[in-house]
Amino acid sequence: MSEKTILIIGGGIAGLSAGCYGRMNGYQTKIFELHSISGGLCTGWKRKGYTIDGCIHWLVGSRPGSGMHALWDELGVLNGVKIVNHEEFVRVRGTDGREFIVYTNVDRLEAHMLALSPQDAVQIKTLTGAIRKFSKFDPMQDNSSPLSGIKMLFTMLPFLGLFKKFGSLTVSEFAGGFKDPLLRQGLVDILGFPGFSLLGLIMTLAWMHAENAGYPIGGSLPFAHAFERRYRELGGEIEFNTRVEKILVENGQAVGLRLADGREVRGDRIISAADGHATLYSMLDGQYLTDELKEMYTTWPIFDPLIQVSLGVNRDLSAAPHAINVHLKKPVHIAGVERDVLSYKHYAYDPTLAPAGKTVVEVMLSSSYAYWKELAEDRERYDAAKQQVALQVIEQLEAVLPGISGQIEMVDVATPLTYERFTGNWQGSFEGWQYTKEAMSRTMQGKSISKTLPGLENFYMIGQWTEPGGGLPPALTSARAIISQICKKDKRAFVSKKTQ
Ligand SMILES: Cc1cc2nc3c(=O)[nH]c(=O)nc-3n(C[C@H](O)[C@H](O)[C@H](O)COP(=O)(O)OP(=O)(O)OC[C@H]3O[C@@H](n4cnc5c(N)ncnc54)[C@H](O)[C@@H]3O)c2cc1C
Repeated sequence: MSEKTILIIGGGIAGLSAGCYGRMNGYQTKIFELHSISGGLCTGWKRKGYTIDGCIHWLVGSRPGSGMHALWDELGVLNGVKIVNHEEFVRVRGTDGREFIVYTNVDRLEAHMLALSPQDAVQIKTLTGAIRKFSKFDPMQDNSSPLSGIKMLFTMLPFLGLFKKFGSLTVSEFAGGFKDPLLRQGLVDILGFPGFSLLGLIMTLAWMHAENAGYPIGGSLPFAHAFERRYRELGGEIEFNTRVEKILVENGQAVGLRLADGREVRGDRIISAADGHATLYSMLDGQYLTDELKEMYTTWPIFDPLIQVSLGVNRDLSAAPHAINVHLKKPVHIAGVERDVLSYKHYAYDPTLAPAGKTVVEVMLSSSYAYWKELAEDRERYDAAKQQVALQVIEQLEAVLPGISGQIEMVDVATPLTYERFTGNWQGSFEGWQYTKEAMSRTMQGKSISKTLPGLENFYMIGQWTEPGGGLPPALTSARAIISQICKKDKRAFVSKKTQ
């Protein structure tokens, strides 16, 4: 049987996963990636002997035996990787010096919250009760068979009441019911998005409690490269430094790609695992936009772009809490926004990222894409603004970690434009669509974002812009589901071959 060809735009986790499953199912696959390395947003970079991690804080499916782990296992990307499950998710330090410690173990969390605010016992137990129940919810399962939907329904059945109860609330709506100001603010700070679905927060804490959302030692880049390794072992091809400009369409069928260097490549199926906006509005010239897609790209909130300040410090921080949100007594203006919270974390728990006795410290601030876009018109102003952000962050950190300014050996600042330049993501967003209560409600009604376009045959979209909430698991699962759909169309039984 001659192999049909699948052309894949983008070598992030979704594109690499599509490549792996495509190869397992006998397709010839070729990935076109604009950057010089694979991984997309799942990346890391080296500076002065330190490795800056650009992605994984927690990886759902890190626990062997969980539904999502079985899928990472199919691609072998966690083979031999040591996982760290933190005791604390984050600490929130209030202006009065009290600390709300978000323990990952729910019993510890409950006891700590009750000690902080006995008057909030009802709200606290509502939250911790839901976390306990959802820690038994394991939704990421094989999505390739016709029975998958039914299996998923059975998995969800015992939780439907909880979905209904918590799915209609945002984190800030729920937090507003707390009397204690530290808990009220601290809950919103855990993920940092007030409009985030409460259920999203509950599930995150449930995964933590179940030790199913750990951190893989080595960080994001080796994780991404494990996908590329597997893809190449399976015989897949990848072309770097190659930007796809247009998707070629003939008689309502996607038939190939036009590359930035002018070449045209033909294929039987086209998958875009690249940015959703660029795919729809630029590569397809806005020709296949449905009303729903237009609404999404004009009204749905995206994860705000970030400034990531990374510092290499000549200090062992392993005894310090790894993630803290500090409420500032006096707000500071950074990158055009008044800020009253500074969130920082360090990576002392991963010895591969810094020389012995030294640590990478990271501060992430949400920031406006337009602010940096305007600054970038003048390179000097842009660089000066980056430097200014770093200086302000260091000044604030000095109050939390006295002496740190004298121990800094490396400073690196990434802006929303950095994310855009290296990954092509719209507005520099780092995870696509926010998981709002509206998105949650759509999920509960069984509505997903369509991965095909009406009037365009042989074309598919996968990755973070096709799954609200984004993240690494949907990058893999969306790819796997599409390859299974393509197999069905080609009357082939979908197969997935686990690594030995
Ligand atoms: C700071 C940060 C923290 C995160 N933390 C977590 C976490 O803890 N857990 C988690 O699960 N997720 C996390 N994420 C999110 C996760 O990294 C992403 O959701 C996921 O990697 C998206 O994968 P993707 O393949 O869908 O898209 P991308 O990674 O964006 O990949 C798209 C690829 O397409 C390429 N491309 C774009 N346009 C073109 C073109 N025209 N031609 C050719 N190639 C093109 C890009 O270069 C890129 O490689 C985090 C992300 C960031 C930035």
